[in-house]
Amino acid sequence: MLTLDEVRGQSRVVELLKRAVDGGRVAQSYLFAGPQGSGKYTTALALAKAINCLSAPGVGCDDCTSCSKINDGIHPDIRTLEPEGAKGNIPIATIRKQVIPVLAMAPHEANARFFLVAEANAMLGPAANALLKTLEEPPERTHFILCTQAPSQLLPTIRSRCQRVNFQPLSPELRAQMHGEDEQAETIRQLSERISEQMDSSGLDGILAVAKDTGDRTTLIGALEQCVQACHHAARASATAVDLASAKVHARRASKILESLVAIREHNAHGQLAVEHLLVALRGLPLPRVSGVRS
Ligand SMILES: [Zn+2]
Repeated sequence: MLTLDEVRGQSRVVELLKRAVDGGRVAQSYLFAGPQGSGKYTTALALAKAINCLSAPGVGCDDCTSCSKINDGIHPDIRTLEPEGAKGNIPIATIRKQVIPVLAMAPHEANARFFLVAEANAMLGPAANALLKTLEEPPERTHFILCTQAPSQLLPTIRSRCQRVNFQPLSPELRAQMHGEDEQAETIRQLSERISEQMDSSGLDGILAVAKDTGDRTTLIGALEQCVQACHHAARASATAVDLASAKVHARRASKILESLVAIREHNAHGQLAVEHLLVALRGLPLPRVSGVRS
């Protein structure tokens, strides 16, 4: 997931939104218009994170409890209205159940509540009409972001109640680059999952077996970074649940993996040496000297 500063290929949009956040002038209803894949929904999430971030308010950190809940789709005040059924529409019942009753209450924990619609054209006439009055006078600390590929097909009354933000199509070069990065991110995610599973079932030896299989140093480092993050989240969750024993186990795991990451980075070792370092660091033994092999 991304923060506002990390949104790609939409510098004008990002500037506009950052100025609005800085000046306390974030509109209550936005219409994010632009082609598929231009980052409308990701930007909407990034804006919700920026406004509600606990570590970097107004910017977003992607890591605090608030940002993590938004990324995981479990923040009680940041809701996405999803299309339903075979036709993929957002029915009027969704607006009546998930939006209208909520508006009478203050947000649970957010500075500002957000309702996001990934494709506003999925709201047919009745659903859109049900939303209209709310868009006209949204309650305080409540924002709507409607994303659309076809703004001209929305009700004119919906369009006129939202501040429109136009997203540019991404260049083919940037799309290709992002596609490659997505693929690498997926590889890293899968590897970190394997490492975490092995950590649970076979302890350190299991992690080492996975790490040894992995010839690519960048992928290994990325996966280990994700493992550290996962351990930190788990430690935080255990601490919140007052399960201090589990919190300590997770924190110890995180620091072990972190040690090996630091070793790998500092020595800038190639794949095999990186793994050797990992083996040693995880076993808690002193690190051997590494000759200046560069990757
Ligand atoms: Zn944050």
